[in-house]
Amino acid sequence: MLLQRKTSLILAGASACRYPCARLMGVNEMRKIMVAGNWKMNGSEQMIRTLLGGILSGLEDSCEADVVVFPPFPYLPLVQSIASGSRIEWGGQNVNAELSGAHTGEVSASMLQEFGCRYVLTGHSERRAVYAESDVDVARRFMAALAAGMVPVLCVGETIEEREAGKTETVVSRQLDAVLATAGIDGFKSAIVAYEPVWAIGTGVTASPGQAQAVHAFIRDKFVSLNGTIGGQLRILYGGSVNGSNAADLFAREDIDGGLVGGASLTAEKFLAICQNLN
Ligand code: PEP
Repeated sequence: MLLQRKTSLILAGASACRYPCARLMGVNEMRKIMVAGNWKMNGSEQMIRTLLGGILSGLEDSCEADVVVFPPFPYLPLVQSIASGSRIEWGGQNVNAELSGAHTGEVSASMLQEFGCRYVLTGHSERRAVYAESDVDVARRFMAALAAGMVPVLCVGETIEEREAGKTETVVSRQLDAVLATAGIDGFKSAIVAYEPVWAIGTGVTASPGQAQAVHAFIRDKFVSLNGTIGGQLRILYGGSVNGSNAADLFAREDIDGGLVGGASLTAEKFLAICQNLN
């Protein structure tokens, strides 16, 4: 059965119940599965026409997940022209904190919005590690997205060294706290968090459903302790070598509300296998 929606029972003074309680759905928060493709710096006009056309024609009605793609900036108008009016939404891979000005190589929220972007990635591990974006930079970018009325997808996650040193929760907490310090808990009313262990990104090594769920539960508990409703509603995606064979097991876990997918989002067949295998 499609795990399209998940529920978290909000109890005063208690953490979110991690088990779906259909009978209590009227009072529970609902979370819809999302499958998001991060195309990174890949593609060409022709490749994107083929990829997006393939996704659009292959996506079955039975896949009730929200489907989002994150193309490289130059292809946003193309994606907009192909996907407008369809069920596929799109977003930017990053956003600058400023509205405009002398920021060579950067893109503003209003520019993204002009091409129909509803979502924007913030704090992807490649931005943090390769382009030296600090926790504070990420928080400022997150705020710019919120201020523009976009949905920021805040990426967090630990390196293998940090995990092996038992620092996963410390690192994830630090990354979240930097944004919470600026945006407050209310800043997460419409935001999404993506837990992406760095050691699983692009490596073919996926966190086991149990490993991922443990961190997702930690993240949700942190938000629930600040605000039960916002924490219960928050969508937390998993990212790191998700594919058609492991997606269903991962997304079946109570606090895993879908995936942020890199490599497997670059061919329609592989991406569709993730969307379709949720059934
Ligand atoms: C990513 O870059 O966000 C990602 C999860 O990549 P991959 O699926 O290739 O590990």
